[in-house]
Amino acid sequence: MSEEEMSRRGFLSQMWDLTKTASGLYLASAVLDTDEAQAQTTQPKRIISVNDLPIAPEDAVKSKDYTDRVNFGRVPLYDVRKHREIYIAKNFQVHEFNKRSTLANNKDGSLHDDFIRLDPNLVTLLQNTRDLVGPIDVVSGYRSNWYNNYLRSHGVKASKLSQHTSGRAADCKSKLPIRELADIFAQELAKLGIRGGIGVYDTFVHVDTAENVGRKRKPSRRWGNHIAKGYHVREAA
Ligand SMILES: [Zn+2]
Repeated sequence: MSEEEMSRRGFLSQMWDLTKTASGLYLASAVLDTDEAQAQTTQPKRIISVNDLPIAPEDAVKSKDYTDRVNFGRVPLYDVRKHREIYIAKNFQVHEFNKRSTLANNKDGSLHDDFIRLDPNLVTLLQNTRDLVGPIDVVSGYRSNWYNNYLRSHGVKASKLSQHTSGRAADCKSKLPIRELADIFAQELAKLGIRGGIGVYDTFVHVDTAENVGRKRKPSRRWGNHIAKGYHVREAA
């Protein structure tokens, strides 16, 4: 582990210890001020940054189930067992990004992973898009290495080195036709200055914030049946 990463983790755990003792006060600084929040709900919605989630225990980080072979752990593994309900953007909660299918539930029957990798850029992208198109259903967000392999062994066409395992991908649906949602994701990726990738499927759009793959001259990697010529790249969801 690099010195930088060690100091980052030290900082995060220190910060968490400080805030944990204050039972709930860690949210205080992130409370949406203003009348806008008041108008939306009777209680102000509390939002924290993904970066402020607690880091997962070392044994989970080191386990091969949670290995990030795609982006080498640049997006840290967070422990969200007690934080599934927390808002990490105006309209998104943690649990929307770590769902598991009913076939792969945890021992306690829960359908959400205990841990998560989640690129803050992905959350920003989804919120910005949500502001334009209305509610977005995240069909599949973060996948542990274990869960991604599980899906593959159960016939899901997931890439072995899926961007989902590095916390940088989400498969999404909205009220919009799939193709239109894909175009808006492309537009919003460009606004954020992220190349990313977009895959169009029959029932959902895959979007990711990966920077370091694909063909350099394209604004983003694109694939799928409904994409214009020149963007055909075969990849799995
Ligand atoms: Zn996907």
